[in-house]
Amino acid sequence: MGKPTGFKEFERETEPYRDPGERLVDFKEIYTEHQEQLLATQGARCMDCGVPFCQSGEGCPVYNLIPEWNDLVYKGHWKEALDRLHKTNNFPEFTGRVCPAPCEGACVLGIHEPPVTIKNIECAIADKGFEQGWVVAKPPRFRSGRRVAVIGSGPAGLAAAQQLNHGGHEVTVYERDDRIGGLLMYGIPNMKLEKDVVDRRVELLRQEGVRFEVNADVGGSGEHGVNVSQLLADYDALLLATGATTPRDLGIPGREGVGVHFAMEFLLKNTKSLLDSQLADGNYISAKDKNVIVIGGGDTGTDCIGTSLRHGCKTLVNFEIMPKPPVDREPNNPWPTWPLIFRVDYGHEEAAERFGNDPRVFSISGKEFVRDEAGKLLGINTVQVDENFKEIPGTVKFWEADLILLSMGFLGPEHYISEALSLELDQRSNYKAEYRDFSTSLDKVFAAGDCRRGQSLVVRAIDEGRLAAEAIDRFLEG
Ligand SMILES: Cc1cc2nc3c(=O)[nH]c(=O)nc-3n(C[C@H](O)[C@H](O)[C@H](O)COP(=O)(O)OP(=O)(O)OC[C@H]3O[C@@H](n4cnc5c(N)ncnc54)[C@H](O)[C@@H]3O)c2cc1C
Ligand code: SF4
Repeated sequence: MGKPTGFKEFERETEPYRDPGERLVDFKEIYTEHQEQLLATQGARCMDCGVPFCQSGEGCPVYNLIPEWNDLVYKGHWKEALDRLHKTNNFPEFTGRVCPAPCEGACVLGIHEPPVTIKNIECAIADKGFEQGWVVAKPPRFRSGRRVAVIGSGPAGLAAAQQLNHGGHEVTVYERDDRIGGLLMYGIPNMKLEKDVVDRRVELLRQEGVRFEVNADVGGSGEHGVNVSQLLADYDALLLATGATTPRDLGIPGREGVGVHFAMEFLLKNTKSLLDSQLADGNYISAKDKNVIVIGGGDTGTDCIGTSLRHGCKTLVNFEIMPKPPVDREPNNPWPTWPLIFRVDYGHEEAAERFGNDPRVFSISGKEFVRDEAGKLLGINTVQVDENFKEIPGTVKFWEADLILLSMGFLGPEHYISEALSLELDQRSNYKAEYRDFSTSLDKVFAAGDCRRGQSLVVRAIDEGRLAAEAIDRFLEG
């Protein structure tokens, strides 16, 4: 345990983000340099409780050994902290940046005081590990002679690939995009996760022996299509880790036509253009000087807000059909469950900096996209809704917009692979496979991550990738 009285002596203090005014003009990460003394003090606040809920099922999905590394950071033993962290988490430099930190919602100190800043500490341990050269490739000492194809290079596919490779199996990752990383690369924008952080880890996996094939669309029929039946014949096992990126649409009048885009099209094109040419090639949907409306909240909505602001949008509004959350936990949302409270994320803070107010409008629903006779988007008519999402009469309002981004969640994976393999789907149209077993309805084909459980979190994808690797290893080795 760090300092027995630490939780009484020290208050919670998070590492600040860069100033919103300063960070709004670039796509660099929003974070500031780590402050080791501050983090050691936060580590000292950890009570090393008998039952550490932070690392339980209610807390960290990969069961990170949080009290242990809090203590090690408090004592200045950073390398040992890194070793403990890597025991449960393949990619702490990703989760330390983008995880919403359910562990902090479950921290025992959080019952009566603000919780320990666990996520900051995790990120600092991982970053220090890379700075000091402690994170190195660890190729396996033997090879099993078994071959596994992983389809999809998001956190689930990468975690599974690393685990299987460490187990001696020969792993090839097939990715239909031109860069490796899944939503770490082409979903979550640079401000939250700079792409050299992803590339750096992929390079280590490569050095460990994992092979990567990009522009390889498994089951696809285009020029980059890869025959999935051939893969089935060539490999001893297949892991589907294809994500769940079929977007939910807003089927109201006026939907067809220019100006209305899915969030992922907006975000993907922006990151690709940024990485290819610093946006010089113009191959992205620009929000510059436009009246922008983002429909839907969550991480994706916030990322659309942050990206639109960086383009220099004229105005920005964010619609949320849900009512405004309470400031504190409600009685039906007790500790250690995830606190469903009003939060100000980086994009909201930046919008307030640029325009003077939080961009969110709650309990609102789109009724009709409004266009002129030539089909040009003029805006959207909305209504206010009650807590059952029923329209409140007399509340129709017109909002001017040149660009509307739909960020209303995802419906599951695309189905061309499942159709090609005649795989069973579950009720939510995800690939059907049980957690911990991960086998699909077809022999030697497994599924993990968002394509199995629906759109979720990076840390849950890592957890699924790790456990799917265990299941595949059992299948291969008996
Ligand atoms: C905009 C956005 C922001 C997010 N922000 C956060 C956040 O801040 N924190 C957080 O924890 N989570 C966040 N998430 C969720 C998180 O990114 C996902 O839950 C996680 O990436 C899922 O990992 P995965 O490996 O299952 O799938 P993905 O990351 O979706 O990767 C799947 C990969 O499979 C590839 N693929 C699909 N089909 C084929 C095929 N047929 N052949 C070859 N390759 C294929 C895809 O191109 C993709 O690269 C966000 C999601 C979005 C959309
Ligand atoms: S991965 Fe997420 S839940 Fe787990 S310790 Fe890190 S921030 Fe917390």
